[in-house]
Amino acid sequence: MEKVLSGIRSTGQLHLGNYFGAVRNFVQLQHEKECYFFIANLHALTTHTDPQLLQKSVKDVLVEYIACGLNPDLSAIYIQSDVPEITELYTLLNMLAYKGELEKTASFKEKIKKHQENINAGLLTYPVLMAADILIHRAHKVPVGKDQEQHLEMARNFAVRFNHRYGTDFFPEPYAYNFTGKLVKVPGLDGNGKMGKSEGEGNAIYLRDSDQLITKKIRKAKTDSGPQHENSKKPEEIKNIFSLMELVSTPDTIQYFDETWNNCSIRYGDLKKQLATDMIQFISPIREKIVDLDSDENTLKKIAQQGAEKARISAKATLDGVKDLMGLKSIWK
Ligand code: AMP
Repeated sequence: MEKVLSGIRSTGQLHLGNYFGAVRNFVQLQHEKECYFFIANLHALTTHTDPQLLQKSVKDVLVEYIACGLNPDLSAIYIQSDVPEITELYTLLNMLAYKGELEKTASFKEKIKKHQENINAGLLTYPVLMAADILIHRAHKVPVGKDQEQHLEMARNFAVRFNHRYGTDFFPEPYAYNFTGKLVKVPGLDGNGKMGKSEGEGNAIYLRDSDQLITKKIRKAKTDSGPQHENSKKPEEIKNIFSLMELVSTPDTIQYFDETWNNCSIRYGDLKKQLATDMIQFISPIREKIVDLDSDENTLKKIAQQGAEKARISAKATLDGVKDLMGLKSIWK
């Protein structure tokens, strides 16, 4: 059976970008494939997160996974650091990764611009750890957002390089996946770029946001002065609002506002009000489940333990195979 792997960093709470880029696919795939979904607390360390904050974020993401519909009986849901086989594979894969290719990675170049004061080796080898996350289960499909395309290409390169070096077909080539057939980039509310945790205040809508906060953020979303002539091209910030609508509103609603854009009668106040209503309708049931689960320590602990146990079985099988192939198996009979 095909295997599926994906994870989200525990660097804060989940937003709509995480949901539509990644988690929505997890929920669907768990019924069809052998699935592994994890909380990437080791990846979060590249930014030297405060230890207590890190622990809180791990729990928040776990709660949010379950509230979104992940089922621990269908998929292994685990915390990355609970599966030490991943970091062992990371060490081994580092021997196959070249400094030049790591330095050329777009996310590394972007991060070193933002964090001049903390260009650590973990940041440089981030794609290797990500490849280890994927290859440890010999996964075929990796449901992620569009921003992860290059990292997936690198994971494929490491898999192919390993297979070639050791004369094997041990690792399948993993591919980024979205069930719509197209990788998704959910835009933010500030008019340009993607929705993200580290973008400016008000850019992201979180699954934990209250109805009032959702309304306020959408009301403040960037718009322009309106269409100047019929059937004009939408500028980036207006396209973004329509893209968000496509995630949560009905086709009729979108068609209505499209028409008002095209005939220049659009009122941004109405557009935003409708988007806020539809967004609240979508998010509030998830938020209610989050609130219910937040204090259920026992259930959360059980889910994480059960997930780590399942994940470690698959991880150990891969690591044993890799060590055999690399000449690391015990030399003592
Ligand atoms: P991160 O929060 O960077 O750990 O990302 C976790 C997952 O969410 C990855 O699969 C990302 O590709 C996805 N993701 C994050 N932001 C967005 C976005 N704005 N649109 C689509 N997917 C996203």
